[in-house]
Amino acid sequence: MLVRLGEVPDLGEQNVTDATKTDSCLIPTCISDPKSRGLCHSHYQSAWNAVNNESTTWEELEEHSLAAPSTGTGRKNHILELLEQRRKAT
Ligand SMILES: [Zn+2]
Repeated sequence: MLVRLGEVPDLGEQNVTDATKTDSCLIPTCISDPKSRGLCHSHYQSAWNAVNNESTTWEELEEHSLAAPSTGTGRKNHILELLEQRRKAT
């Protein structure tokens, strides 16, 4: 079994998961609005290209916080959202 020293979760890094930026692209240096998977249009395209030519996978990108899971990233079913609003309105 592989024991990887130096990768023990550090309590001091707890904030990292809390600070899920939803207001800008996941790429740290990028301040564009995210379009898909937490990435802006151009970074999403780069990621998509990389996945498409099998340089990486979405899973790997997600693992390294370079992409958000496809569910729950603002791509909610629009009809369901509207329905939810109407149910609340009554
Ligand atoms: Zn970006």
